[in-house]
Amino acid sequence: MKSIRLREGKERSLLRRHPWVFEGSIARGSADAGELVRVEAADGRFLAWGAYSPQSAIRVRAWSFDEAERIDAAFFARRIAAALALRARLAIDSDAQRLVHGEADGLPGLIVDRYGDTLVAQFTSAGTERWKAVIADALLQATGLTRLYERSDASVRALEGLEPATGWLRGGPVAGGEAPPVELTIHEHQWQLTLNIAEGHKTGFYLDQRDSRKRFADYARRLGFQRVLNCFCYTGGFSVAALAGMRAAEAEGGAPGGQVVSIDSSGPALERARAHVVLNGFDVNRASFMDADVNASLRQFLKEGQRFDAIVLDPPKFAPTAAHADRAARAYKDINRLALQLLTPGGVLFTFSCSGGISADLFHKIVASAGADAGVDGYILERLGGAPDHPMTLEFPEGEYLKGLVVMRKG
Ligand code: SAH
Repeated sequence: MKSIRLREGKERSLLRRHPWVFEGSIARGSADAGELVRVEAADGRFLAWGAYSPQSAIRVRAWSFDEAERIDAAFFARRIAAALALRARLAIDSDAQRLVHGEADGLPGLIVDRYGDTLVAQFTSAGTERWKAVIADALLQATGLTRLYERSDASVRALEGLEPATGWLRGGPVAGGEAPPVELTIHEHQWQLTLNIAEGHKTGFYLDQRDSRKRFADYARRLGFQRVLNCFCYTGGFSVAALAGMRAAEAEGGAPGGQVVSIDSSGPALERARAHVVLNGFDVNRASFMDADVNASLRQFLKEGQRFDAIVLDPPKFAPTAAHADRAARAYKDINRLALQLLTPGGVLFTFSCSGGISADLFHKIVASAGADAGVDGYILERLGGAPDHPMTLEFPEGEYLKGLVVMRKG
């Protein structure tokens, strides 16, 4: 067993069960990619079992802080069982769920999403790459499913010195047989949504926004939105939510009509968004789709004097790490300022950041400063986060990547 000896004083984060060891904390020792290592303090005391990653700035990711624990197939089966047990207690209103969320589930570098009876996994660390076959078998065993598709094409793999890898890991086509479908339909709340696990973003869908989409539908119903703008709409999850809420409001005697404008720079995503409107029985004439840049579109709307009574801003990650925070902060502020200006008095903004490098506190400040610049005052009605199948933990604050605010314009 190879040992990794830390420098004096560098044991603190592992003692708090934070699972990362940075390159600069290591005094001596090395191992092969993904190899199991014993991490020890400067005085030789045991700290953790971990996976070594020779090319990554995060040189070791801890598997376990228990010296008596063996890292073997049974270990992975236990961690996966614990992750599934949590989801079973969360009452998630969807057949699409994140089953394993990396560090938060004690499995650094592993993401597993379930879409109906198909699993999709991302292996993003040298450690999970090395244990891939064991993990794949454990996942099938624990879920009773047979199909597992790999989407290890996230850019973070390059930081680990790993090439992208995609395709069926389990349950793929047998010789001469048909390939299982990569085009799937899921049921989220009362809606049907489709995705393509081979071509969609991430593993195909943004499961982390499930609860915020539901919240948005609730607001649309309660406040009777008439003009909704969904920016960075991807496949239109928030657009479907808005239409559902508006339909409910109408059924309860609210004003008929209402329009939802959805913007994204991805043509295929927009096509799917449009299909989702039809699939869920909404009138396509109430939905329009723009293949455009959000920032430019917001400016154009302002020039035209357009106004909306609800706006969603759910941009991609502007700041992957804290090093990008400054530039990202300006980009967030810009779109939030424009959106606040475009809101009618009493209108509602759902604004998000999924940047690990932007804390909830900083995001709040950015939106506040956008309001100041826009000359718009607002109530913060709610703070939002990722759906609970993307758990946050006490010991790994980096897990809180998605944060959102619901702001109502005063006036
Ligand atoms: N709200 C969505 C997820 C949004 S992901 C949901 O609930 O499913 C971010 C989206 O922003 C992606 O679909 C991406 O194509 C789009 N995007 C990235 N940069 C953009 C830009 N400058 N203008 C418009 N869309 C952009």
